[in-house]
Amino acid sequence: MPRRRTALPAVVGLTAGLLAAAGPASPAGAEPLPEKVPLAVGTGGAVATVDPDATRVGLEVLAAGGNAADAAVAAAAALGVTEPYSAGVGGGGFFVHFDAATGEVSTIEGRETAPLAMGADAFLDAEGNPLDFDEAVQSGLSVGTPGTPLTWVRALEEFGTLSLAEALAGGIRLAEEGFVVDETFREQTAENEEKFRRFAPTAELFLPGGALPEVGSVFRNPDLARTYGTLAAEGVGSFYTGELAEAIVATVQDPPEAAGAEEVRPGLLEEGDLARYDAPLRAPTRVDYRGLQVYGMAPPSSGGSTVGEGLNVLEQFPLGSVSEVSALHHFLEASAVAFADRNRYVGDPAYAPVPLGELLSDGFATERACAIDPGKAATKPVDAGVPDGEYGPCPGAAAASADGGAEGPSTTHLTVGDADGNIASYTLTIEQTGGSGITVPDAGFILNNELTDFTFAAADPAAPEPNLPAPGKRPRSSMSPTIVLDDGEPLLAVGSPGGSTIITTVLQTLVGRIDRDLDLVEAIAAPRATQRNTETVNAEPAFLAAYGAELAVLGHVFTETAEIGAATGIEYLPDGLLLAAAEPERRGGGSAGVVEEVGGAAADAAGLAPDIGDAG
Ligand code: GLU
Repeated sequence: MPRRRTALPAVVGLTAGLLAAAGPASPAGAEPLPEKVPLAVGTGGAVATVDPDATRVGLEVLAAGGNAADAAVAAAAALGVTEPYSAGVGGGGFFVHFDAATGEVSTIEGRETAPLAMGADAFLDAEGNPLDFDEAVQSGLSVGTPGTPLTWVRALEEFGTLSLAEALAGGIRLAEEGFVVDETFREQTAENEEKFRRFAPTAELFLPGGALPEVGSVFRNPDLARTYGTLAAEGVGSFYTGELAEAIVATVQDPPEAAGAEEVRPGLLEEGDLARYDAPLRAPTRVDYRGLQVYGMAPPSSGGSTVGEGLNVLEQFPLGSVSEVSALHHFLEASAVAFADRNRYVGDPAYAPVPLGELLSDGFATERACAIDPGKAATKPVDAGVPDGEYGPCPGAAAASADGGAEGPSTTHLTVGDADGNIASYTLTIEQTGGSGITVPDAGFILNNELTDFTFAAADPAAPEPNLPAPGKRPRSSMSPTIVLDDGEPLLAVGSPGGSTIITTVLQTLVGRIDRDLDLVEAIAAPRATQRNTETVNAEPAFLAAYGAELAVLGHVFTETAEIGAATGIEYLPDGLLLAAAEPERRGGGSAGVVEEVGGAAADAAGLAPDIGDAG
């Protein structure tokens, strides 16, 4: 399909996101909340995060001449302040980068890692039964060596221009001066109140004066400012071998329960685990979809392989020319198929080989597409395929295995595109909202519970289970920071939080944008559903209202879920324009910004959604 090249008015307006305009009303006498918009179009670079302060910090870096990687690290450090329950130096994440000068896509794998002392039975009780999930989360046992500080340093060294100190400056200022508490922050604190009260330093920091922070109040975190200051002054070694390392290990081994609170399980981390931590560069995954090149995160994340397999399977069907219900039916069925294979074959590749090349091959996709009946939903769970390189038309299958992880609306994704065409697509997390709930005393950040992403016990002891704990192993993730190129040129990037629903959210957003002619904000805002090879499809109320009845006729069974994911993205438009996109509603709405807004551009629908990819 030919591209629509629409000239947009080249009127340069106010610098979006750099002005702290008054936003939604806050209670009388309270501080105004910063402005949040889900869409911005302009030049000079684009940033999309869930939070207006983080977006502003990223834009300031771009406006001052920093590149996409610089702005991504700065925005992530800001999110560590304003989204401390989703992200921060106590967690990990995956950083995907496109370098416009070399045309290369690279990734940094900053996944938290199990202690060397952790064995396969770590999450089993004395009788050999899996531990209660919440009990495992709220314990030292769930804490893996954090990967985020080293990810930031590596991103700056490999792709950036700023020093760590320069990239942390915005976050330090925000932690010192504070941010205005919004409804989402208060709600997330309320949801975590019980967990936070179990740990003295957490209650002290996040329940100031023993109460939930008020909407409109200013929240400061001087301890985190000091931690960032130490990183800035002494380098990342201070985190992995210095005083901070000692404090982390002491906290994990003897969690600081509040007076009178029940004791939690101690963790296994030792100083040697932090000292040996690495956040390696890994080759990205790549699939070609409708003539576009889609890059993602390789194992130990299952994001790139599962989004990629889903796209390869969907490419067998003409999604661009079928009804909306039919397109969604295929999306749900392809998701189930890809999840069957993810659950069976993907884990940390250092511990069991992952047949990544075969999972992402066109031959395998053609074979797997056989499992999809365009007129009828398959009975779930569907069996896993056999990615052995020998693909017939419609073969037998291997038994399915279940996904061991529970899912919450935690984590955060940020996306940056700079004026030179460099892109950073970065998902980071401390796992659950509020992580393990354990704050390192006087350090201002919560430790992750990422090790509960391991499968506690194999569902079928006879079938291989790639995601059991092991010494030094990285738990399987679903994080799917994604970059899409067109003939090697930057086109768009997207990602989301949401545990294993991340994968289906990214897949649905890509299909919406590439096949269904939605612009990126529409594709992000569209009502969501997620089929992860389970009996029922989780779907948002708006999805059920619009498509539930017709999809039920095809055999889909639904469970209503209030909200799925919280995506952000950027897109390079024709005429040198950049678009930043965030959620209009979910999680209280995200924050999109560009360095120089182009007046009226955001109103030009055709310019926002030129045809991309070959028709499907
Ligand atoms: N721990 C999850 C993963 O790595 C992300 C957490 C979430 O988004 O809920 O896949």
